Amino acid sequence: MPDQPPRFETAAIRTQAPRSDAREHSVPLFLTSSFVFDDAEQARALFADEIEGAVYSRYSNPNPDEFVRKLCLLEGGEDGIATGSGMAAVYASLAALVKSGDHIVASRSLFGSTHQILTKLLPRWGVSFTYVDAADDAGWDRAIRPETRLLFVETPSNPGLDVLDLERLGALAKSHNIPLIVDNCFATPYLQRPIALGASLVVHSATKWIDGQGRVLGGAIVGDKALVTEARYFARHTGPSLSPFNAWVLSKSLETLAVRMDRHCANAMALAKHFEGHAGLEQVRYPFLASHPQHALARRQMSQGGGIVVLVLKGGIERCRRFIDALQLCSHSPNLGDTRSIVTHPTSTTHSKLTEAERQAVGIVPGLVRISVGLEHLDDIIADVEQALAASA
Ligand SMILES: *Cc1c(COP(=O)(O)O)cnc(C)c1O
Repeated sequence: MPDQPPRFETAAIRTQAPRSDAREHSVPLFLTSSFVFDDAEQARALFADEIEGAVYSRYSNPNPDEFVRKLCLLEGGEDGIATGSGMAAVYASLAALVKSGDHIVASRSLFGSTHQILTKLLPRWGVSFTYVDAADDAGWDRAIRPETRLLFVETPSNPGLDVLDLERLGALAKSHNIPLIVDNCFATPYLQRPIALGASLVVHSATKWIDGQGRVLGGAIVGDKALVTEARYFARHTGPSLSPFNAWVLSKSLETLAVRMDRHCANAMALAKHFEGHAGLEQVRYPFLASHPQHALARRQMSQGGGIVVLVLKGGIERCRRFIDALQLCSHSPNLGDTRSIVTHPTSTTHSKLTEAERQAVGIVPGLVRISVGLEHLDDIIADVEQALAASA
């Protein structure tokens, strides 16, 4: 297939570290902290960045390198680095690019720890921020100042499923000559490619859909070469590296991302449709339901609606506790993006550190439960949610 960019499924399977002398078919695991030099000249050239090759696993190892090279192809990024978790990727993407006095504009609907970085950690080093509400389209232009260094968004957001217009934000960032960074965890490159829509960097928690089986933590930053070079310098010297083992797991997982996401999305869409209008619910939120406030936008920038469905139960927090305790199949866990369906109650767990007002501002009402729709038989998932709704009424 010369002259054609590799298709998603093929790139995800056939991007592989060079074969070793053992002629392996599936890539081996390089559990080694460092690498030996052929001679003094090679060592000098490697450290001078004149040639490429593994040196020390804090910053280069065939397994993380393979994983991130593949992710670059799938996201359409020029370059990338792998990190030990999603938060390591989020933090490195920000910390590598800002200095004291800089300002960040971000969407208000963000992962809990990203919110902590912006509101508590970066201000220690003199970096300020402004949040823009998902529904406040004009707010972005107003929020940008001369010292604004970057825009940061998450879409669809965790757990509120707000959808932000990446093409518009990408154009806005370009007009101010600053990068747009997108946390693409919920969509994965299979459903949404932010770089093609104008993002400069994509960050991932690979722990979720990319692993897809609830085994390892991991993350990545991919995109514009000059920005990734800054992130690589930061990561090389501060050490948020991805372990070779986790990288090996994640690279194998990317091979099946497309087929898994097809089924996750089909199950989630069917579950959302099934429960919309249910007597026990105030609301069902899913990007591909016509009732979602950014439904048209979601259809435009995503190929499918993703694997997360949000239910807002009538009866608030007490009802949610009874609902969760009545589940027989779905797991109660803070993770998402697993073969196993997982139910989470953000108000009492993942978002309990936010104030009530902060939760309200991003739509996390007490009755909200997040369902990461798994790969069990759809009828069994629906039946479990149905019986738990009845039992908790
Ligand atoms: C889970 C998550 C993260 C953090 O990832 P870890 O791998 O747990 O560090 C960041 N962003 C989003 C949207 C997430 O869901």
